[in-house]
Amino acid sequence: MQLETVATTLRNAHREDPHFSVKMRIQKLNQLKKVIVRNESEITRALKADLGKSAFETYATEIGFILEEINFTVKHLESWAKVKKVKTPLTLFPGTSFIYSEAYGVVLIISPWNYPFQLCLSPVIGAIAAGNKVVVKPSEFASETSSIIKNIIMEVFKENEVSVVQGGLEETQVLLKQKFDYIFFTGSTSVGKIIMKAAAEYLTPVTLELGGKSPCLIEESANIEIAAKRVAWGKFLNAGQTCVAPDYVLIPAKLQDEFIERLRFYITTFYGLDVKSSHDYPRIVNNRHFDRLKELLIQDKIAIGGELNREENFIGPTVMKNVDLSDKVMQDEIFGPILPIIPYDNLENAIKNIMNFPKPLAFYLFSENSEQQNDIIAKIPFGGGCINDTVIHLANPNLPFGGVGTSGIGSYHGQKSFETFTNYKSVFKQGTLVDIPLRYPPYNEKKLNWIKLFLR
Ligand code: NAD
Repeated sequence: MQLETVATTLRNAHREDPHFSVKMRIQKLNQLKKVIVRNESEITRALKADLGKSAFETYATEIGFILEEINFTVKHLESWAKVKKVKTPLTLFPGTSFIYSEAYGVVLIISPWNYPFQLCLSPVIGAIAAGNKVVVKPSEFASETSSIIKNIIMEVFKENEVSVVQGGLEETQVLLKQKFDYIFFTGSTSVGKIIMKAAAEYLTPVTLELGGKSPCLIEESANIEIAAKRVAWGKFLNAGQTCVAPDYVLIPAKLQDEFIERLRFYITTFYGLDVKSSHDYPRIVNNRHFDRLKELLIQDKIAIGGELNREENFIGPTVMKNVDLSDKVMQDEIFGPILPIIPYDNLENAIKNIMNFPKPLAFYLFSENSEQQNDIIAKIPFGGGCINDTVIHLANPNLPFGGVGTSGIGSYHGQKSFETFTNYKSVFKQGTLVDIPLRYPPYNEKKLNWIKLFLR
């Protein structure tokens, strides 16, 4: 298919078949599931090649996640897509009111490299569920996974239903010049701005799933053992290359050393003493990111790890203590296995420090005090998060996932994905047997009094 005209080609296909039936969408999603299951070992191999991901992580955070998303969507799609009757005020008697769901048309999905399978296919599921045609642009930095995605999609969908575009900047620029009916982008905040500018040209609605520094606040009542275990898991999963990984930890100064000791224990428990030889610990995606991360290390502040190997793009799980807000590691999203710990003496100041950063994608609070939990969650703006855990909120399809402010616009997962890719048409259906004359001119005092009686 011609890259320059892909949007038009798919729009023509959509116009010919705008009612891509719910039954057909379910069939396609079930078929997608089958093909993914059949390709499980190929997908696992590709993610090992792209990111050194273990089979377990690949299944839990990529394949299994997508299968669950398909199951959930297929189970509920008929009810989501139904025409919904809503209440009608008495003043509009004898009419009735309905909301129809309609596909936007042609959706562009651009995805990143860190969970290259899941972050590409999850929005595709939502877009198809809502009845759209889709152009997908996976990340060029996870090329093995991108080509498996292409094969899977080509087996399930016709080219004018879902079209996969492989490539980087050049290809994406060609896509962004075209008119889409919806753009769904996952990636960095800086590229998010480029996408939104391009979308503005056609007033195309967007979802932007972006990044930022997601804080983890440990309050003094916290269970430190559990906090250390769950922070170590959420941070070093995918070697820290997770958009919702805890970026930094704020902890009462008196608990810092104990917390670091427990982190050390769990890092060793998870990955052994020689992390480099652990099959469960992934690699940094490329040299460019390796070099960027290396620059963030301050030797004097390294409490755990700091091991580097550029040939293998290996950076061991690293914890830095007594980190200052002015340190380089606190300037931008880390997106790697480096965890800065910032000690605090005053909880209110710690909260203020978090709020001085742009609104984060995720926020994690460890606390055993329910009053504090409610108070802190209410005070801090963020996209989504957990109390006494990290990252795992993504696993509940009933929780919409997205950011706020510079961490994103809009959300998806589960029903929210269907809603994201749906245009809701509001329809008022009037009866024709009676026609109350009140609203028609010529107006008079009596009509005005009647209208005042109804609309107060
Ligand atoms: P990126 O923004 O560099 O790239 C994302 C996609 O945009 C890729 O497909 C890439 O080819 C394309 N792209 C890159 N530069 C472009 C340009 N100038 N014009 C048009 N398209 C361009 O992001 P990345 O490095 O792949 O991923 C890391 C970032 O993504 C981090 O900031 C992370 O927090 C964020 N992220 C967010 C989520 C989320 O769900 N909110 C999930 C994963 C990653």
